[in-house]
This record gives sequence, C-alpha cells and structure tokens, in this order.
Amino acid sequence: MKRLVLLFAAACAFGAQAQEPLPLFDAHMHYNVEARSYLSPEQVVALWRKTGIRGVLATSRPNDGTLDLIAQKAKDIVIVPFLRPYRVQPDRYDWFNSPGVAEYVEKELARGIYRGIGEFHIFGADADAPYMAKIARLAKERGMWLHAHSDEDAVERILRHAPGVKLIWAHTGMSTPMDKVEQMFAQYPNIVGELSYRMDIEQDGALNPRWKALMMKYPDRFVVGTDTWITPRWGQVEELASFYRRMLAGLPREVAEKIAFRNGVAMFAVP
Ligand SMILES: [Zn+2]
Repeated sequence: MKRLVLLFAAACAFGAQAQEPLPLFDAHMHYNVEARSYLSPEQVVALWRKTGIRGVLATSRPNDGTLDLIAQKAKDIVIVPFLRPYRVQPDRYDWFNSPGVAEYVEKELARGIYRGIGEFHIFGADADAPYMAKIARLAKERGMWLHAHSDEDAVERILRHAPGVKLIWAHTGMSTPMDKVEQMFAQYPNIVGELSYRMDIEQDGALNPRWKALMMKYPDRFVVGTDTWITPRWGQVEELASFYRRMLAGLPREVAEKIAFRNGVAMFAVP
C-alpha cells in the first residue's frame, strides 16, 4: 500500500513536471521612470521569477531603469540591455531630429553594454531622417539590433539605409495586413517579429491558423513581449504570459519553445 502511495506521488510529480509552463523571453519591456514607484527593481525581478520569465530584452526611459535591473545580478534571468533613445516621454515624437537625444545616445553608447537600440517609434517618411539613417548604419557596423515600432513603410526605409541590419519589428507592425507581413518576412530575412498587441494572433480563443502557418514557416523569427509601456501594463504581466502560453500551445512544443524563449536567447548568443 505504502509503495502504491509512493508511486502515485511520483506520478503526480512527473505530471506536474510535464506541465511545466513554457519559459518566456520578454523581448519587449520598458521599466520606465513612472513604473518605479509601483515596482522596485527587486520586485520586477521577483515578478519575472513568479511568471516564468527567464530572459528579457531590457529597456527603459531613461536608461537608468535598465542599469538598475542589471545591477540586481539575477543569475537565473538573462538580461539583454537595449539603449532607448528617450530621456523623457515626448522624445518619442522627435528623437530622430533632436540634438539633445543624439548627445544622450552618444553618452549611453559609451557604456559599451547595449546589444541594440530601441524600442523607438518612427513612421513613414520620418525614417529618412539623417539621424535614423545614422543609427541604422551604426547598428549594422557594430552588430547591434534595432527595435522599431514602425509601419512597414518606415521599416523598409530603415533597411534601405543599412541593408542587412538586424531588426526586431515591434508588434510585427501591430495592424499591418497579413499579406504584407508575409511579404516582409519573405523579402527581409533579417527581420524578427515581436508579437505584443498583435491581437489577431488569437482567433476563437486559440492560435489563428494563418499565424500558425507563418510561425511554422519561420520558427526562428518570432519573439513575445509584454510591452509595459505604461505602468498599468505591469499589472497584466502574468495575464500576458498566460495568453502567450495559451496561443503557443497550438504549435508543436519545439516551435513553441523557440518563440517563447529560445529565439530571444539565440539572437543575442547568450550561452
Ligand atoms: Zn514598447
């Protein structure tokens, strides 16, 4: 009898292990200054642990938030810092045309810790601004990534400035029609799609078949993100993690693991 109980306990433990939630790499988060009174850096790390977020592409406005997250030295969480070209919120509207931002970016670059630049916002012909071209070329030369919240027009302009530059497409265009998304993925092998706010990945409570087909075709080219761009989003991190796990359950486990976590780690060659 005792043995049976033990076997049963072992089976339960195995069952729990088999259902271990997918680890996540959050490729779109911001620990902005406004969030700091809501969550300390210690609390952010604790939230990641609780949620199964085992890697992050860390950004903040200003960049001090990112530095404070790194300073936590959380050995169990991969933190990949990106340089955000924003000192204050209004910079998002004219950063590509602001001498003050250029000076700030130069100072931040000198830290030598950043693996990419972004997330930045730029749309349409604004992406032909000389400073955008400069940043795109700089990223390409230094092997850094760009993280662009842009329409497809701006993405194409950026890629013309620096063909082959590695680019994370925030929200995968958010509302870009699927035909165009498919064309962009076929045409530009250096684009990775980040999926926050891309609400159409869900259809009838499960993964949209059209998205599933695209993810199966390009399993190495999607990542997930929470996009904590405003403080209330921090209260939704666990819910967002569950959403991604639910959607990715519609894929073979190997592909789901890539999109959930492995791609993020592989992109930045984190051992
Ligand atoms: Zn964002």
